[in-house]
Amino acid sequence: MNEQHSHRHHDFETRAIHAGQAADAQTGAVVTPIYQVSTYKQDGVGGLRGGYEYSRSANPTRTALEENLAALEGGRRGLAFASGLAAEDCLLRTVLAPGDHVVIPNDAYGGTFRLFSKVVERWGVQWSVADTSDPAAVRAQLRPNTKVIWVETPSNPLLGITDIEALAGIARAEGVLLVVDNTFASPYLQQPLTLGADVVVHSTTKYMGGHSDVVGGALITSDTELGEQLTYHQNAMGAIAGPFDAWLVMRGVKTLAVRMDRHSANASRIAEMLTSHPKVHQVLYPGLAEHPGHETAAKQMRAFGGMVSFRVNGGEQAAVDVCNRAELFTLGESLGGVESLIEHPGRMTHASAAGSALEVPADLVRLSVGIESVDDLLADLSQALG
Ligand SMILES: *Cc1c(COP(=O)(O)O)cnc(C)c1O
Repeated sequence: MNEQHSHRHHDFETRAIHAGQAADAQTGAVVTPIYQVSTYKQDGVGGLRGGYEYSRSANPTRTALEENLAALEGGRRGLAFASGLAAEDCLLRTVLAPGDHVVIPNDAYGGTFRLFSKVVERWGVQWSVADTSDPAAVRAQLRPNTKVIWVETPSNPLLGITDIEALAGIARAEGVLLVVDNTFASPYLQQPLTLGADVVVHSTTKYMGGHSDVVGGALITSDTELGEQLTYHQNAMGAIAGPFDAWLVMRGVKTLAVRMDRHSANASRIAEMLTSHPKVHQVLYPGLAEHPGHETAAKQMRAFGGMVSFRVNGGEQAAVDVCNRAELFTLGESLGGVESLIEHPGRMTHASAAGSALEVPADLVRLSVGIESVDDLLADLSQALG
């Protein structure tokens, strides 16, 4: 905690490398070691060294990551989990009870939608869907028992933009918790807590890890009391990030700023190329002036990120063909790694939303633009489009 506060005045790039990560007290190791350990010697019964007793409750490698995450999002408490969905599950079971209601976005991440519709609903939680890019539409869904407004911005896979400050105003006035899934932007591009959100959710699997080599999740809040409750539930439920996974995310985060700059620059070039391509009838990228959320994105984001979606002429088969013909863009789910990925959301990441209010267009292709040479990426897309 002291560590985290001592870096408060530093810029993002500095915090990414140093917050929570003082040199090891015993050896001077510059990088936080992987404390691959389950239990800790006590100096007499209850005599804990540095508060560590059992690694589900706390582990020094995970603590370093958690302090780092809090510092990057401008929060007071960060918590690291085994996956993004484990983080979401912990949050929902901490703040919701049977009979409560949640507003979720009409283009939420497929796994988040599945968690609400197939799991949480069975425990008596009601949900309804709103276009969160329209504050009035969110307000219209509020009920006396609404406890949470859930937002993703940019959203997955349609790259919709929600005005976080506007929704924070509504949430505060109604006594509802505003949760922002910040996975697509990362804290380098956008810091929802500073815009009034109560909790930030991450799949650290994506940009935070950044190298497609770890699955992880995080929660960050600036509310001390909620932070205590989440910490209690993290331990009580147990879906923690293991030491090696925590270490991989920390290593990824050190280069987050330079990676996001390149992801954003490459994605902008690709979005521009697609806009003028005869086989493409719509490009979804918040950096484009014609994107309906462009102004809001420009206000709340440092740059527009590395995710680009587009709709292909010729329907579903044409979109599937583009995915299959790409070579440098690897056909695969997930996103946020240094390597470029391509996928068909309707049949892959968002297949579980088929037939629901969250169904995605069949001619949609989603790109996670990596940090390779943009000229090589443009050439590959051109040949894939035929
Ligand atoms: C991947 C993802 C998740 C889920 O995270 P996992 O680490 O896969 O459990 C949640 N939200 C968004 C926006 C994602 O992209």
